[in-house]
Amino acid sequence: MPEPLFRRLALIGIGLIGSSVARIARERGDIAGEVVATARTERTLARVAALGIADRVEIDPARAVEGADCVMLCAPVGAFAGLAAAIAPALAPGAIVTDVGSTKQSVIRDVGPHLPAHVQFVPAHPVAGTEYSGPDAGFTTLFQGRWTLVTPLPDGDPAAAEKIAELWRRCGSMVEMMEPAHHDRVLAIVSHLPHLLAFTICGTADDLEDESRQQVLKFAASGFRDFTRIAASDPVMWRDIFLNNKDALLEMLARFVEDAQAMSRAVRWGDGAYIEDKVERGRKIRRSLIELKQA
Ligand code: NAP
Repeated sequence: MPEPLFRRLALIGIGLIGSSVARIARERGDIAGEVVATARTERTLARVAALGIADRVEIDPARAVEGADCVMLCAPVGAFAGLAAAIAPALAPGAIVTDVGSTKQSVIRDVGPHLPAHVQFVPAHPVAGTEYSGPDAGFTTLFQGRWTLVTPLPDGDPAAAEKIAELWRRCGSMVEMMEPAHHDRVLAIVSHLPHLLAFTICGTADDLEDESRQQVLKFAASGFRDFTRIAASDPVMWRDIFLNNKDALLEMLARFVEDAQAMSRAVRWGDGAYIEDKVERGRKIRRSLIELKQA
């Protein structure tokens, strides 16, 4: 078996994403010699210990990162500034600090200033997930065939970025390097806006009078059901994503509202060709996704 990439990997937050990384590291053996995990609550750490997916658990994040040559932030992005401040004094010289956050410019803004000069910071985002959360939700094939976007800093060490890229390849992921601002715009349209629409449509349905709401649940299979799966995601995580990718999300939402207005006009004036054209474009996008094996 090849040498592990890292001697000790510290996972700061161990829910769906962190526990998937921990499980893969345990199964493969070539990612980290040792995995240390921390979380916000003792309850989660007790669960992690029971699952046996980390070598050690620590409630204090600063203790968790001691002696680690890789530190991965796997908590909601709104907690990153506080966590970075808490771990900074305990980071080992030469350590690589990375993250899995769904926004990248905010993470660079919130984490970067706290880190000492003797560590490397390599922001990253595995674009894979489910609507479930917590350490029980993780599984070893989560990143298989999915993309991880690595957004290295211009003045960072390319060798550190390559090590993080290799970590994700060993997790089964395909890797692409990307500018942080570009990442945030792309994710706003492919992930953040669809989630916003799903949360909103569920709210709209829930506001209906009692009788209609019952019918929504009964006949959900006609389309509503797929929105409810997306809308089942963790509220804190999504609150943090929306607030930390504000500009790109609002831009994509404005475009969407414009297009929705155009569709509404087509419906009002009976413009069947317009409606057909939009449905056809939707089908094409679905077919492309299937061909790219990302459906
Ligand atoms: P999750 O299942 O809800 O787990 C979050 C973990 O972070 C838990 O262990 C939680 O501990 C811990 N945590 C929360 N606040 C903390 C704090 N202040 N200090 C220390 N630990 C804290 O979340 P997830 O789905 O794995 O997401 C983690 C990160 O990955 C987020 O930044 C998210 O944007 C990103 N991401 C998520 C997905 C997805 O689909 N879920 C996909 C890609 C990237 P407790 O359990 O003790 O509260």
